[in-house]
Amino acid sequence: GEITEFDLAETARVAAHWVERGARRQVTLTHTGDAHVPVRGRPGHIQQVIMNLVQNAHDAVENVDDPRITIDTRTENGRAVLCVRDNGPGVPPDKATAIFDPFYTTKDVGRGTGLGLSISHKIAQEHGGQLRLCPSESGACFRLELPLETRE
Ligand code: ADP
Ligand code: MG
Repeated sequence: GEITEFDLAETARVAAHWVERGARRQVTLTHTGDAHVPVRGRPGHIQQVIMNLVQNAHDAVENVDDPRITIDTRTENGRAVLCVRDNGPGVPPDKATAIFDPFYTTKDVGRGTGLGLSISHKIAQEHGGQLRLCPSESGACFRLELPLETRE
């Protein structure tokens, strides 16, 4: 993939679309935030990151009544920020670091490799950004931060 300027909000919509197409269950998915968020990098890699976050959210709400996922994409303090929230059981506090380890998974064989978050974390760093689990009162919230594309 080439390094280019692209719209993080659009990439989020495309990523969510692909996850929805393969989803086992209907989930209320909401996009919020800014209509356009310009970033610079490899759009294919960032799309993979977002697809993994949205797929994880889908997996997390599998047994929840009224499953909901929100993808918020916005410009914040000169950074591009994308948050994926779900109303699933959340990540136990003592697993907050382990979930980013390669091969850490709580899913059945064939359903998860445990590589998604570790690869996503690496991709975020390669872009000069970061991927973190946010503190949340309920459910899970993952925050991807990337440098904003600023035209001189
Ligand atoms: P995989 O999805 O293949 O299991 P990931 O690296 O994407 O691998 O995620 C690792 C683990 O982190 C998951 O198996 C799950 O236990 C936990 N996890 C990730 N996202 C969520 C979420 N939204 N809610 C609850 N747990 C999560
Ligand atoms: Mg995953």
